[in-house]
Amino acid sequence: SESSSYTLLPKVQKFLKTPKKLFIGGRWVDAVSGKTFPTYDPASGEVLAYVAEADKEDVDKAVKAAREAFENGPWAKMSPAERAKLIWKLADLIEENLEELAQIESLDNGKPMAVAKVADLPLSIDLFRYMAGWATKIEGNTIPFSLASPEKFVAYTRREPIGVVGQIIPWNFPLLMAAWKLGPALATGCTVILKPAEQTPLSALWIGELIQQAGFPDGVVNILPGFGETAGAAIAAHGDIDKVAFTGSTEVGKIIVKAATSNLKKVSLELGGKSPNIVFSDADLSVAIPGAASAIFFNHGQCCCAGSRLYVEKKAFDKVLEGITEEAKKIRLGPGLDPSTEMGPLVSQEQYDRVFSYIRSGLDEGATVVTGGKRFGERGYFISPTIFSGVNSSMKIVNEEIFGPVVCAIPFEDTEEIAPVANQTIYGLAAGIWTKDISKAHRLAAKLKAGTVWINCYNVFDASLPFGGYKQSGWGREMGHAVLDNYLETKSVCIQID
Ligand code: ADP
Repeated sequence: SESSSYTLLPKVQKFLKTPKKLFIGGRWVDAVSGKTFPTYDPASGEVLAYVAEADKEDVDKAVKAAREAFENGPWAKMSPAERAKLIWKLADLIEENLEELAQIESLDNGKPMAVAKVADLPLSIDLFRYMAGWATKIEGNTIPFSLASPEKFVAYTRREPIGVVGQIIPWNFPLLMAAWKLGPALATGCTVILKPAEQTPLSALWIGELIQQAGFPDGVVNILPGFGETAGAAIAAHGDIDKVAFTGSTEVGKIIVKAATSNLKKVSLELGGKSPNIVFSDADLSVAIPGAASAIFFNHGQCCCAGSRLYVEKKAFDKVLEGITEEAKKIRLGPGLDPSTEMGPLVSQEQYDRVFSYIRSGLDEGATVVTGGKRFGERGYFISPTIFSGVNSSMKIVNEEIFGPVVCAIPFEDTEEIAPVANQTIYGLAAGIWTKDISKAHRLAAKLKAGTVWINCYNVFDASLPFGGYKQSGWGREMGHAVLDNYLETKSVCIQID
């Protein structure tokens, strides 16, 4: 394959050669059906490995294992400090396997290995360490009553793990999304059934091996590669799963919510976006221009928070458009394992077709392609970085999430008008502001209906900073201590002492 012209690390070669199974109850097992499915190298379209395909029966088995581990296993009796130690150990093991995991991530997803090494891997490692710290700091409150006198009652709250958790994740940051989900679930003492995306199951399986190596008790984490409509749907609907955490499209998010009504399991969602990135003419354009390019082109635009609507103050529009066009043209496309690659292929044929259908729709609706809009190379799923101008607010490319390297550049005139325009979307995940006027930046930040507002930066993440969506971008927050609420119940204990 394309990637085989680059040297794979020995551990990666060995990993790819061994059968890829499901991780249930601390053991590697075949699917009940015996079925497997291929995962592809998006740089060439060739098969990387065949992976056991979980379905409903496997989900049932995993839920039994997770339930047993939660109720009766050593996990249930473990001290928070012991849990913290295991999570920290997992972070250390990921760090020891950093090069290998970056290669796997690049092979399976298409992203440049160099990017995985400086972004996906360090962010995942830090997330686990940050969450290890929280394991020992989960506290309730003592509550003074409002109507009764203080001599009559003592009351306190306990924060308890919610129980057995299903986690369904996407393919854009396969390892990091697993970390965002596993970290808080383990810190709070839950047990997990994790379903990686069918496009990118490999790094999650590697993590399964590291979880074993770290010494987590059997059944605490179960990893089930499989498809959304089968394994994913079985998790969302399962009667003995207490909570489902989902990251993916808004469309599937709504399906998950409906399926979860079976037992009213708790739901948290991190969904799509169509994030506005707003450049004022008083910004430092030498920073704002590459910043705006990276806001959309990072990870090939396959980010739920991608800055896909670029609003530029009219005075600076031509200059910014010209600048970002130059940036787009400079980006080196190629297989992720090539060290000089800055942008890899899209993840799959399906994604490639989807992004192209949006490019065609933009052209059909009368928008202008300033640069890109074309396939790159003869094989693999490469699309050149694409900039549209001459768009209007009714066009599909301005309103719908494309999830590819496609940005709409739109001029604006009036500072007062930009907030309502930026908020004109069903989504509310992120937004960017570029200006030297700090008062203007803070005023606008308060008006934007988005879970994250980046000022003079974009795509900056930290384990300590909550991330999530307003409106149809989701329910709940990931990361920070805010995410712990997704995995904890609050129990009020009330004692009469009168
Ligand atoms: P994308 O369209 O970008 O592939 P999806 O929202 O379809 O994103 O996928 C995100 C995750 O949701 C994947 O793990 C996928 O398998 C899963 N998924 C897709 N459809 C369903 C479904 N009907 N029920 C549960 N999970 C699903």
